[in-house]
Amino acid sequence: MERIGIFPGSFDPFTKGHEDIVRRFLPQFDRVIIALGVNSKKKYMFDTDSRIEHIESLFKACPTVSVEAYEGLTVDFCQRKKAGYLLRGLRSSADFEFEKAIAQMNADISKGEGNVVETLFLMTDKNLSAISSSIVREIKKNNGNIAQFVTNEELLIINT
Ligand code: ADP
Repeated sequence: MERIGIFPGSFDPFTKGHEDIVRRFLPQFDRVIIALGVNSKKKYMFDTDSRIEHIESLFKACPTVSVEAYEGLTVDFCQRKKAGYLLRGLRSSADFEFEKAIAQMNADISKGEGNVVETLFLMTDKNLSAISSSIVREIKKNNGNIAQFVTNEELLIINT
């Protein structure tokens, strides 16, 4: 059976921290799907299509990586894609506590539906651990330069 990992998030925007996590998980999987969660009630700073194109540009040399938008429960998306693994990064103890609850609940929900979705974690790179999408948005909002935190940031279009 194909080993498929899903890396979910809103990626508003997709930072060098996210990019590093995907690149380090890649050798362990036949396919990795970067799954952009879309909540129609939420306002994002960067346009959804530009976020997808931006992420695709980063992995165009990696045929086993694809990018998809999804709505609804992440575990349901995993079942649709026949993916057994959720991939996450850990930056801090706050991330750990938050991720632990979600991972345990996702395992419970998916168990009820047939295939248990396991969550796998990689520790953040020490040079990238301070990067978060919310701080990057704050810098952008105040006309700061985000190029050192986001590869190919010129592809991102701000929602008006
Ligand atoms: P969302 O986009 O849904 O708000 P996040 O950007 O917080 O989610 O995170 C998506 C995943 O990426 C989480 O597992 C998070 O811990 C991880 N992540 C975010 N930034 C980094 C980073 N700088 N280094 C490693 N992992 C990160």
